[in-house]
Parts: sequence; structure tokens; C-alpha cells
Amino acid sequence: ARQYLDIPVAPADLAFGLMADFDADPHPHKVSLIAGAYRDENGLPWVLPSVKEAKAYLEKNPNHEYLGIAGSPTFIKHAQSLIFGVNLSETIKTHIASIQTVSGTGANHMAALFLAKHLRPQRVFIPSPTWVNHESIWTMAGVPHEEYPYYSSDTHSVDMGGMLNTLETKAELNDVVILQACAHNPTGVDLSKAQWEELVHVIKRKNLFVVFDSAYQGFATGDVDGDAWAVRYFVEQLILNAESDATHPGLCIAQSFSKNFGLYGERIGAFHLVVPRHFSSQGAQSELMAIARSEYSNPPRFGTSIVQTVLGDDHLRSQWQEDLNTMSARIKKMRHELRRRLEKLGTAGDWAHIESQIGMFSYTGLSRQQVERLRNEFHIYLLPSGRVSICGLNEGNVDYVARAIGEVVG
Ligand code: PMP
Repeated sequence: ARQYLDIPVAPADLAFGLMADFDADPHPHKVSLIAGAYRDENGLPWVLPSVKEAKAYLEKNPNHEYLGIAGSPTFIKHAQSLIFGVNLSETIKTHIASIQTVSGTGANHMAALFLAKHLRPQRVFIPSPTWVNHESIWTMAGVPHEEYPYYSSDTHSVDMGGMLNTLETKAELNDVVILQACAHNPTGVDLSKAQWEELVHVIKRKNLFVVFDSAYQGFATGDVDGDAWAVRYFVEQLILNAESDATHPGLCIAQSFSKNFGLYGERIGAFHLVVPRHFSSQGAQSELMAIARSEYSNPPRFGTSIVQTVLGDDHLRSQWQEDLNTMSARIKKMRHELRRRLEKLGTAGDWAHIESQIGMFSYTGLSRQQVERLRNEFHIYLLPSGRVSICGLNEGNVDYVARAIGEVVG
């Protein structure tokens, strides 16, 4: 084995490296379309009014004691109700093992560690493309990964044929499939309901284990129930409506509260494992807690206190709904504004996808060279894949960005 002194220097994280370049760029009109974090109409970070109010309450009632190993039970209950809906989470409550995690990343990590040890998949299937951390997290857990086609750049839509074909022909019993619950990062393209229905048949028939990565519930469209549709549908199909002799192993959800509460740095998340109905989740619950105990012992308290204060109070909860509407509506508006300007300028190509994609990101279709020119000539920063964070756009820069894209597209 290689000694630690021989470890080669790994390349810096692409997005975080680009952000440092952006910060160092003195150009007055520079624009960052890199980060997956909401920005308001002035390009500034936004503290949700519901969060502000909850914080003011917490200031008056401070508590800095340890949480239990599994986290705050009140938070966990709210987290379950949010993702499964009140009725479904009540129906399956003895079949769910849930634990508070270090945000969505920590929840994905918990999934990987737990499943690597107790499901022992041959492989994990990840979408191509996907959030860059999926591959790293599963590699760290020692599970080989394989990509399944997700996005067709020709049609700007889901490559359903490619996806189903790969799962049909390559996935084996108990292999893991990562699915993003809504607002797919980086493409902004989700499966339709009919496509989810098609997919669940294959998952069921082949006994594949799904990890839903849910990082954008409510943030994507403003509709928390709509954004959780696929998760709930899969739980109904794979767990609730399963025959008593069904062999399906269950599924799990990695839930992030970074985007929908604008609490990126507080690291709030949950991991939920749903076991088949003829099993109890207690053993799994104890193992999740054993993993947490050895990794960080107790999860952070502050962020989950904010979330449970908001979700547990009628007034704050409706304010939060308004905040979700504010964020999702501004993003939709910016999609519309960018598309309109590109079309008005007569920019070559079809730009309808900018508006039809959902969530924070748009896969523009710009080439690596075009992305480089945007940066070098116009000081506009985006990922080499052509992914832009729509949040970086506002009334003050959307004209400039549209014109620059027009220039590089030619
Ligand atoms: N999954 C996906 C698909 C994401 O886009 C993100 C955030 N970029 C995460 C998980 C994790 O985010 P966090 O750890 O901040 O909750």
C-alpha cells in the first residue's frame, strides 16, 4: 500500500476553485453563475424572513446542550412529514429508520456507508451527469460506480431509453441506483410522472435499491408536495403496495435543508431508510446511530432548532411557504428573462430549454470553448459543462450575460 508521504496532490475541487478565481477577478462587471446558492435580486445572499424570525425566538431561549446521537426527535418528525407527507409517514412510521445528518452530503455519506456494509451492492449506478460528489462519496465507501445515461443533449431531455436499458442489462440484485428527487443537478431536467412509473417497474422487477437524493424540495417549484411526488410514489409502489412475499429490499432518502431554508452553512439534513413492511427498522436504526456515534457523536443543534421552530409554528410555516415562493418565482423569472433576451438578440439555436428546466441550474448547452470565452472576454464564470446557476442572474446583469452568450455563440 502507498504510504501517506507518497500521496499525490489531488486536483482542487472544480467549482470551489472557480469561485476563488472569481473572487480574485477585479473586473467591475464580473458575474458568477457557479455556486449552487440562492442570491436575491441584488445578487446578495438572502436570509429567509421565516428563518430570521425563528432565530430571534431562539436567541431568547438559548440551548447549547448536546443533541442525542440520532439528532432532534422533533426535527426528525418534521423531516419525515415533509418528505413523505403527513399521512404516509404515519402509515409507515415503524418501517422508517431516520437520523439527523450533516446536511445532504452527510446523508448521502450515511447511505453509502450503511449500504456498503449491510446491503453489499456490486455497484452503485449514478446518473450521467450528476452532482460531482456522488462519485466521491461512494468511492470513499469502497463501492464501485457505474454511470447510467440520464440526459440527452440532442433533445435536452431525459435519456429514458438509455437509462432503462443500462439498468435492465447491467444492474444486479441489490445494486444501488441514485435518483435525484427533483430539480436534477446539473441538468434541471426531471422525469415526467409517466417516466417515473416506467422506472419503478424496472426497480421493482430487478430488486434494485434506490437512494433518493432530495436537495431541492420546495425550492424547485415552491410546491413541497409536488417536489416530493416521486419519493412518495416510490414508497407507495415499493413498500406500501408490495405483496407480503415481495423480495424488494427497501429504499432510502438523503434529505438536505440547505436550499429550501437558505441555511447552507448550518449543515442540516436527514437520512431516512424505509424497510419492507414485514420488517422492523429498529436494527437498522441502531446501526445508523453506531455510525454517527463513531463519526461525530452528536449532530449540530442550531440549524435543526431553526427548522423545527419554523415547521412547528403555523405562522412561521406559512411565512416559509411565502419564502419558497419568493425564491422559486425569482428563478423562474430569470429563466424567462434570459431566454427572452437570447431570442430577441437572435442568438443562434433553440433556447426554450432555459425556461423549461427547473430548479437552480440550467444546462445551457454551451461548449467548453464558449464557457472559456465567457470567462476570458466577459468575466462571466460558469462550470465547463455549461451549467449555470440561474440564481446568479438578476435584472442588473441578465442583459450583459445574454449579450455575452450571443457573442460567444456567434
Ligand atoms: N445533492 C445534490 C443533488 C445537491 O445538488 C447538493 C448540493 N449541491 C447536495 C446533495 C448536498 O448539499 P448539502 O450538503 O449542502 O445539503
